[in-house]
Amino acid sequence: MRKLISGIVEFRELQLPKYAERFRGLALTQSPDALFVTCSDSRVVPDLLVSTHPGELFTMRNVGNLVPPATAEGISVGDVSEASAIEYAVLVLKVANIVVCGHSECGAMKAVLATEARPGAPNLQKWLHHASTAAFRLEHEGALDASLKPHDQLSQLNVLVQLGHLMSYPIVRTQVAAGALHLSGWWFDIATGDMYSYEPTSRLFEVIDRQVAERLIARLEA
Ligand SMILES: [Zn+2]
Repeated sequence: MRKLISGIVEFRELQLPKYAERFRGLALTQSPDALFVTCSDSRVVPDLLVSTHPGELFTMRNVGNLVPPATAEGISVGDVSEASAIEYAVLVLKVANIVVCGHSECGAMKAVLATEARPGAPNLQKWLHHASTAAFRLEHEGALDASLKPHDQLSQLNVLVQLGHLMSYPIVRTQVAAGALHLSGWWFDIATGDMYSYEPTSRLFEVIDRQVAERLIARLEA
């Protein structure tokens, strides 16, 4: 905590002068390009990884980057926090993109694969149920990349499952069908710092290098 408090002073004295004008401009409005859904894990730092500044990324984080699916009426079957973020991002901020970003060595994915429940964590246990379809798919369909550790294999499939959960929300489905909203599945490898994007044609997560980035951007603009 000492580091956090000292960090505020460091921000005030060193960074704020650079950001002051931007914050003044953002004080009454924001128009982020994307809703970024990712894990609470401290090693995943969205603004650092995608080089964004204040006002550019609307972020929704939780344990395991999970999105509880919706009923046919668009009501979340789990906690409504995630659904609220989706509704706000899509209907109010009118984001053009939603990214679900998983990551390597995810504690949530390890917990899903653990044979024994963690004592004293009934809420976590219940929450992780939203990743159970990913575990089912891993068991029955196998991994997208068999060279990865089991929890990383699960983490990649979990990104795809959560994208499916997003599509269970009528407002998301409608906007995607209208071409006004684009969904992407990303995966961050902590050890290498590489960000991967799911490529439906190859059914693989590909490193977003310059070449892949140009292809992804061209597809968005098509
Ligand atoms: Zn995680």
